[in-house]
Amino acid sequence: MYDWLIVGAGFAGSVLAERLANERGDRVLLVDRRPHIGGNAYDRYDDAGILIHQYGPHIFHTNSKAIFDYLSGFTAWRFYEHRVLGRVDGKLVPIPINLDTVNTLYGLSLTPEEFEGWLAARAEPVGEIRTSEDVVVSKVGRELYEKFFRGYTRKQWGVDPSELDKSVTARVPTRTNRDDRYFTDEFQFMPAQGYTRMFETMLRSPNIHVMLQTDYRDVKDVVPHRRTIYTGPIDEYFGFRFGKLPYRSLRFRHETLDQERYQPVGTVNYPMSEDYTRISEYKHLTGQVHPKTSITFEYPSAEGDPYYPIPRPENAELFKKYERLALATPDVWFVGRLATYRYYNMDQVVGQALATFRRISDALPAGADT
Ligand code: FAD
Ligand code: UDP
Repeated sequence: MYDWLIVGAGFAGSVLAERLANERGDRVLLVDRRPHIGGNAYDRYDDAGILIHQYGPHIFHTNSKAIFDYLSGFTAWRFYEHRVLGRVDGKLVPIPINLDTVNTLYGLSLTPEEFEGWLAARAEPVGEIRTSEDVVVSKVGRELYEKFFRGYTRKQWGVDPSELDKSVTARVPTRTNRDDRYFTDEFQFMPAQGYTRMFETMLRSPNIHVMLQTDYRDVKDVVPHRRTIYTGPIDEYFGFRFGKLPYRSLRFRHETLDQERYQPVGTVNYPMSEDYTRISEYKHLTGQVHPKTSITFEYPSAEGDPYYPIPRPENAELFKKYERLALATPDVWFVGRLATYRYYNMDQVVGQALATFRRISDALPAGADT
């Protein structure tokens, strides 16, 4: 008899498995239908021996010392600040848009103060900022919006930014200084030996049994367990009874090149015409030294594994219906990006899982079942 059946060995499922097993001594069966742990953060050495991220580039960043300290129990870190360039009008310019982006793109030499005025003269007043279009045009105006955001967002999400919640493009700020880091969080690091190694350490406990290539449906009625933590898509758990929740997918094209470097920074975005949104080169992220280099192209698609919940009002409504069912389902906790339909970064999922652990501890004192 397991105390817990945990579905999904990504951040949500693995953090909870670790906490329940090590803090409470609970017996945990952790299943994943994929052949590996780590969920979308899974990394592996490719045929050339280069550490790549199977599901696209994952950069850890957080402002939470508690989350950083928690994960530090399972890995050493490599300091890494991500930088992104955009290929726009034949030039490579910094993203997020900053002073250098505009000076390079238009051949100007504006100072930060002049740039503020330049932006103010182009920004379009928007009454209530609701959509992903509003966020950008109200800050930088329509021309930069079209160059940097409109095409990229239509590719990535399959809808126009005017049909997406403001939270999507609000992830990418505008800066009037020359700071060219993609993130400004206090803690920005990569796990020194990779994500998969960190997950292996997290799950190393006699109380945790991991079963891969195992679908929840195949074990739920066979393996005796008291309670469940589910981190897969919430609509699937309930047999899609209210209809499918839309998730956006990606196809990844991994390539190894017979050259030491491919591009000057970790990621180059292609916001204008290509079919792919971005190309990432892992050696920037990992610091690995190798005569070859491996890169990944991301091609957005409607079909395939669910990667991104799509933040739009009608999807939020549909999710709420499933959430009401979830709240009325005893002994099952729904956690993570797919089960709570939230466009969360890794650190937010870890935070959500740790908060769930605290709620479980309050509701079920350790040893209550024995
Ligand atoms: P997942 O990692 O998706 O894990 C869920 C697991 O459940 C999966 O392994 C799945 O196989 C399993 N599962 C589902 N249903 C079943 C079932 N029925 N039976 C068995 N197993 C099941 N975040 C950052 O902080 N920084 C980044 O740079 C970053 N880059 C990203 C890039 C891309 C391309 C993507 C898609 C995401 C990125 N993220 C990034 C977000 C990050 O991937 C997620 O926040 C995090 O991995 C979510 O963890 P999770 O455990 O909720 O879900
Ligand atoms: N975005 C854009 N152009 C860019 C970068 C981002 O239009 O050059 C928009 C796009 O809608 C994207 C969103 O901002 O999906 C969030 O970007 P982020 O890099 O955070 O996406 P993720 O890494 O989560 O795929």
